[in-house]
Amino acid sequence: QRVGYAIVGLGHLTLEEILPAMGQCKKSKPVALVSGSPEKMAKVAKQYGIKPENCYSYENYDKLKDNPAVQVIYIVLPNSLHAEYTIRGAQAGKHILCEKPMATSSADCQKMIDACKKAGRKLMVAYRIQYEPNNRLVRKMIQSNQFGKTKVIEAHNVQSSANPQHWRHKLALAGGGALPDIGLYCLNTSRFLLGTEPTEVFAYTYSTPDNPLFKEVEEMVSWQMRFPEGIVVNCISDYNTHESRRYRVLAEKGWINLEQAFAYEGQQLQTAHAEGMVGHKDQLTLGNKNQFATEIDHFSECILDNKEPHTPGEEGLQDHRIMEAIYQSAREGKPVKLPAVAKKDAFR
Ligand code: NAD
Repeated sequence: QRVGYAIVGLGHLTLEEILPAMGQCKKSKPVALVSGSPEKMAKVAKQYGIKPENCYSYENYDKLKDNPAVQVIYIVLPNSLHAEYTIRGAQAGKHILCEKPMATSSADCQKMIDACKKAGRKLMVAYRIQYEPNNRLVRKMIQSNQFGKTKVIEAHNVQSSANPQHWRHKLALAGGGALPDIGLYCLNTSRFLLGTEPTEVFAYTYSTPDNPLFKEVEEMVSWQMRFPEGIVVNCISDYNTHESRRYRVLAEKGWINLEQAFAYEGQQLQTAHAEGMVGHKDQLTLGNKNQFATEIDHFSECILDNKEPHTPGEEGLQDHRIMEAIYQSAREGKPVKLPAVAKKDAFR
């Protein structure tokens, strides 16, 4: 039994990752498309065996209500459109899988959660790293204190971008620059690894003056998060740096390094363990699994078995609250305390 998905937005992520990954899913299948470009949609529909009557525009999106083949709507649009299409999708009676970042404000995240609750439908944010086996193994190592108590995590996710006309460089569509797009991986993954919530953030942003790429959104954010028991997490995201996506966990009796930590594939996990005076290093190799397929099938399983997803809307809301505190700290030049949140360990 496979859950039917309508995919909204036929941009890079949908065409290069999500639709191909559907071929590796065991519980999910694409059954409908939503796009503003009928020609492109006709081609993609033919390629993936989607019936012409299951192709929708943004205008007749709400008609998905009448299509029983569609159980989930997967929203893969520019960030500021996630809220509207989630709310309309829930009102059409469908479960929602929403790309990260969940929205462009915590207020919108709350509206999305409320709309799905009101409609009695599930909402999951597509935090693929939480479904990726290397990252899951690191979390297990940390939470079992395999290398003693964790003291520090250093994480960065940096890349370069070139097109100032792209929606990622328009504040109204993106909601921010490097932070919500790629810095979010450092933020969400460190919360996932530690299984606790930060209590305070301290941040610094920088944008090269007169660079058209960074007229509206920030180029770089560097921030520090304090977690309970004195754990410190240092993060950097940057839109104007050669690609690098990794973290290192420093613990009392060893360290864990994950290269390509936030990439679609190619993770390389290395650990070092103190043994008396002599250090010991290990390179671990886990089989390559398509993260997107695992993530999508997880949501289908939640629908088939009526379970809560690992990464529900509340997970996205918490990240947005922290990102808002990061921007506030950078603006004010001082640390910002975060309110305590009840941990929903069930989804971890
Ligand atoms: P993209 O620019 O390649 O595609 C966006 C699509 O939205 C395009 O087909 C575009 O035509 C359509 N669109 C509809 N209304 C639009 C409007 N008003 N302005 C601009 N475009 C509009 O972007 P993408 O890289 O596919 O990103 C889509 C979403 O997926 C974003 O939220 C992004 O953060 C997320 N994403 C997630 C991952 C991941 O690894 N999980 C990776 C890349 C992107």
